[in-house]
Amino acid sequence: MILPIVGYGSPILRKEAEPVPKDYPNLKELIANMYETMYHSDGVGLAAPQIDLSIQLVVIGFRPYDEKTDSYGPEEERHTLINPEILETKGANKLFNEGCLSIPGIHEDVLRPETIVLHYFDEDWNEHTEEISGMFARVAQHEIDHLHGKVFTDRLSQLRRTMIRRKLNDVVGGKVNVNYRMKFSKKK
Ligand code: ZN
Repeated sequence: MILPIVGYGSPILRKEAEPVPKDYPNLKELIANMYETMYHSDGVGLAAPQIDLSIQLVVIGFRPYDEKTDSYGPEEERHTLINPEILETKGANKLFNEGCLSIPGIHEDVLRPETIVLHYFDEDWNEHTEEISGMFARVAQHEIDHLHGKVFTDRLSQLRRTMIRRKLNDVVGGKVNVNYRMKFSKKK
C-alpha cells in the first residue's frame, strides 16, 4: 500500500522518534508498505516519520554506482534499519547532493562524514554493527536525521538556508509539484 508522504513544516518531522519494540504490530507489512511508497516516489530512502509514524524505522534501496564502468549495477541494494544508531563517524566530510521526499524541489550539497559505524536491527531482528561508507552511509545518515527531528536543509550554511527560504515556505504551504501523494501541515 502506498502511503502519503508528510511534507516539510509538519511537526512530526521535528519530533524525536520512539524506539520500535519487538512486538510492534504488523511490522513486516509496514516495512513492505514503506518500500512500496519509496519506490513509487523514486526515493532511495524513507524514514517512518515521513509517513506520519514517529518510530525509529528506515528503509533504504538503491542501485550501487560503479565508478569503473560509470554505470549503475543491475542488483539493487536494500537495507531495513530498525532502531539504528551511529556509533562512530570516520574519514573526511564529503559534499553530496541530497534531496528529500518531504522537501520536493530542493536539492543541495550536504557535508557529511564518508564512513560511519552503524548499529541496527534488520527486519528479522538480527543485530548488526557494520562499518559502512558510500551511498549506504550517505542515505543512512540522512534518514537517521529524520528519526531525530532533523532534515537535510538544517545542515546547510546560514547563507544557503536564506537563499532557499522561499522555496521551503512553498513546501510548508503545500505549493509543490510532485507525482506522489503528500500531506501538509497547512492546506493550499
Ligand atoms: Zn529525507
